[in-house]
Amino acid sequence: MNCIFCKITNGEIPTNFHYEGERVIAFADLNPQAPTHLLLVPKSHYENAAELAKGDPNALVEIFSAAEQLAREFNLEGYRTVFNTGAAAGQSVFHAHLHLLGGRAFSWPPG
Ligand code: 5GP
Ligand code: ZN
Repeated sequence: MNCIFCKITNGEIPTNFHYEGERVIAFADLNPQAPTHLLLVPKSHYENAAELAKGDPNALVEIFSAAEQLAREFNLEGYRTVFNTGAAAGQSVFHAHLHLLGGRAFSWPPG
């Protein structure tokens, strides 16, 4: 399978990890949409968050505890977490990942 996030998580593409735990890594988004924009990615490949919840629920728990830890480390006052699911919702990489965005004000509803 030619999955860019598998290549990042397994070290085939060298990347600076801001977090590495048993099941999850985090690294900066290539095309940041906020001053802090990290991607929290399970080491195992699941297409989206729902599949991850079914296949490796502990990774989902670790993703959200890592998000809280990273938000503290990056001094984020508040932050937004987003799982895009399906191309219609803006998903472009089909290996589950949580966007962690912070460092600016966010509007609601999202675009
Ligand atoms: P999605 O659109 O699937 O919700 O999010 C995919 C995200 O991955 C995008 O924000 C995009 O900028 C980021 N991205 C795509 N390819 C790479 C890459 O090779 N390295 C990094 N660091 N981010 C990537
Ligand atoms: Zn993958």
